[in-house]
Amino acid sequence: MLNTMESMKQLYRIGLGPSSSHTMAPMHAAEDFLARTPDAASYRVVLYGSLAATGRGHYTDRAIESVLGKTGKPVEILWKPDIFLRKHPNAMTFSSLDQGGSPLCSWNVYSTGGGALRDDESWGRADRVYELDSMDSILEWCRRKGAMLWEYAADQEGEELFSYLKQVWEAMRASVKAGLEHEGVLPGELRLPRKAAQYYARTQYLSGSIGRRSRIYAYALAVSEENAGGGQVVTAPTCGASGVLPAVLYYLQETHRISQQRIIRSLAAAGIVGNIVKHRASISGAEVGCQGEIGTACAMASAAAAHLMGGSNYQIEYAAEMGLEHHLGLTCDPVYGLVQIPCIERNAMAAARALNHMAFSLLSDGRHFISFDDVVSVMKETGEAIPSLYRETSMGGLAALERKTDSL
Ligand code: SF4
Repeated sequence: MLNTMESMKQLYRIGLGPSSSHTMAPMHAAEDFLARTPDAASYRVVLYGSLAATGRGHYTDRAIESVLGKTGKPVEILWKPDIFLRKHPNAMTFSSLDQGGSPLCSWNVYSTGGGALRDDESWGRADRVYELDSMDSILEWCRRKGAMLWEYAADQEGEELFSYLKQVWEAMRASVKAGLEHEGVLPGELRLPRKAAQYYARTQYLSGSIGRRSRIYAYALAVSEENAGGGQVVTAPTCGASGVLPAVLYYLQETHRISQQRIIRSLAAAGIVGNIVKHRASISGAEVGCQGEIGTACAMASAAAAHLMGGSNYQIEYAAEMGLEHHLGLTCDPVYGLVQIPCIERNAMAAARALNHMAFSLLSDGRHFISFDDVVSVMKETGEAIPSLYRETSMGGLAALERKTDSL
């Protein structure tokens, strides 16, 4: 792995749910393959490992067919959950076929988390724009310059980043609002009713800390339910964990009348946190479990909240560290392969936790024992030690409980 980070634009992606790795990335891979093989008579796509194990619940087949199928040519999807290609647990092989069904061209491509794609050629190579990739080195840069964390992103990516982050924030706000409006049952075998609109309505009768906390839950549910319903969300860092950061930002903006400019800067600070995890460990549930998705989302939201509430760089780092540390070991075991249980509630709980981390870190002077960089290394090590049963294969944990047939 190279020791620098890609643009934050590769971390915050605006797109359709329910899964950045299993829906968004395969759809983009299909678009790319179609553009290169327009003359094929038909297409075959083989899904391997985790993509095959939970692809049906995540609508991987529908995402691919929505692109290749619109040509009117036959598309065959093969599911190989027991075969894992060496480079990554989320692997696909796209083939274009001639009239006789013989392959014309084949392409191995890997969905590496948060909507990112790599193929055999681009593996290990990326468009790196950041000089530094550890929190310690970035904090030291900030100390020397007298800068805030978000200013490091501005220095490395230029002011143009902030017009992109403005779009990100608008998309996040839209996903909260849409999720608070939409009612009914989410797609899929679970027949899970959406809760955000009802929960939000009930918050009107609650006051004090319970009322405030309930609003955070409602906002996180709103975005996560939009994601589960295939609506538009922003990966932060993934679709499955897309409700945490918007919920916290929406709540703080509403409660403390924070300007849009400061919200956007907090997205830059949170983006540095997410980017470090992405480049030094992983944000892919199939690689490291849910600690890499919800844990990273919580770290990002904790950092953003600490920034917005006036934290120093060291307090922001402390909040981010707690966000990840307190999710170490969290498994990924989506029931029926849907990004619904446990995913949706986890977003709500992580959003509430992020505010706790913010408050806790602001009580301190920012000094603490375990550094953010240390916890990122431990998260990676822990993720590699988690059996694949608990890494987005839906073979273990909650996903392996006896299936219930009644709706809730
Ligand atoms: S359990 Fe976590 S990592 Fe797994 S699909 Fe759900 S949100 Fe993503």
